[in-house]
Amino acid sequence: MPEFSLDLNEEQRDLRDWVHGFARDVVRPAAAEWDAREETPWPLLQEAAKIGLYGFEFLANCWADPTGISLPIANEELFWGDAGIGLSLFGTSLAVAAIYGSGTPEQLVEWVPLCFGTVDEPAVAAFCSTEPEAGSDVGSMRTKARYDEATDEWILSGQKAYATNGGIAAVHVVTATVDSSLGSRGQAAFVVPPGTPGLTSPGKLKKLGLRASHTADLFLDDVRVPGRCLLGGREALLERLDRARNGQKAAGQAAMRTFELSRPTVGAQAIGVARAAYEYALEYARGRVQFGRPIIENQAIAFALADMKMEIDAARLLVWRAAWMGRNNRVFDAGEGSMSKLKAGEVAVSVTEKAVQILGGAGFLREHPVERWYRDAKIYTIFEGTSEIQRLVISRAISGVQIR
Ligand SMILES: Cc1cc2nc3c(=O)[nH]c(=O)nc-3n(C[C@H](O)[C@H](O)[C@H](O)COP(=O)(O)OP(=O)(O)OC[C@H]3O[C@@H](n4cnc5c(N)ncnc54)[C@H](O)[C@@H]3O)c2cc1C
Repeated sequence: MPEFSLDLNEEQRDLRDWVHGFARDVVRPAAAEWDAREETPWPLLQEAAKIGLYGFEFLANCWADPTGISLPIANEELFWGDAGIGLSLFGTSLAVAAIYGSGTPEQLVEWVPLCFGTVDEPAVAAFCSTEPEAGSDVGSMRTKARYDEATDEWILSGQKAYATNGGIAAVHVVTATVDSSLGSRGQAAFVVPPGTPGLTSPGKLKKLGLRASHTADLFLDDVRVPGRCLLGGREALLERLDRARNGQKAAGQAAMRTFELSRPTVGAQAIGVARAAYEYALEYARGRVQFGRPIIENQAIAFALADMKMEIDAARLLVWRAAWMGRNNRVFDAGEGSMSKLKAGEVAVSVTEKAVQILGGAGFLREHPVERWYRDAKIYTIFEGTSEIQRLVISRAISGVQIR
């Protein structure tokens, strides 16, 4: 049993410095341009693939860290560079994590390389769960999957909303209801292979922030996928449905655990955005002179910066705790995964808002990146479960009461 320590080990420090270098030298200088273009930054994906920052091996190395904090470290550094570009690079990992978490080893080998493409021609993947009528209320999903015995195919029909990389992805992982009477426990996830007919998208949505990242709605019009595209296989699904019908809780708890495991990573992204804004505001406050002295000499400004730093560090500790718990199979009995994402998302919003304030009029202008960070931060109280939903998870976990 190692002694308790919050020092990063050598590998973690190397990882942090390597991703930070890419974020500083490649991502940050390109951020304003891709935000304005509102396009997926394919040349940057290529650059990241070339150095091994975009691909399954990188993800697998992060997952292998027994402390669990490599993935949060990498996410914080990359999103410090830019969140829109960051999500263009790491959005694929949502779909890959679903294949890894629910798929068989054969499915992993077949589909994961297609998610990333090649170094010369990188591809992206999409994880499509949200629907127009099923956002926070995942259980009310209407997209249906039915099995065609004759052809050994699954037929998917319905609509998906706000999918990161939706429509431009090589591989779409789509969740659908197999038995609607079981709510979220009657759902399964399917791989839709590249070029499958019937999956269409009206195109990229216009957003407040994360503009480089592609977000789109999707239509599934009798999309036929081979039987082997059901993640985990048919036998496992039938067993799971049987258990759910018999009132056993395992399936619902497993789904909840999956969310708890991914939330610290999203929290780390929020911390990256917050830290970028804090560092920028600190430098600005040292240099900006009003009333004959740098504005940082006023307690109003200095105390705001002190609070920003304290909140960022507090959020990071919650993220690292949840990541460690997930990697070491601890039970999230107080919703610690949700806590980490809730805190980090709210810190990103408040810290970026304070940064705009510290820059005054300059903070409102596009000449400085804080206005972009302010816009980007807001997503972190919304996706991967809104702040209200995180509070629901935590309050249910600590009370055992079915709070509504
Ligand atoms: C940029 C972006 C990228 C996204 N990427 C993906 C993706 O890759 N894949 C994917 O599947 N989805 C994705 N989403 C969707 C995202 O996860 C959902 O928007 C989110 O879960 C909220 O769902 P909703 O938008 O339908 O809001 P709603 O569920 O309609 O919520 C509206 C408001 O009501 C509140 N509310 C709802 N229910 C309760 C309750 N019981 N108690 C208290 N308050 C409640 C919410 O907190 C929120 O404030 C993305 C969204 C965006 C904007």
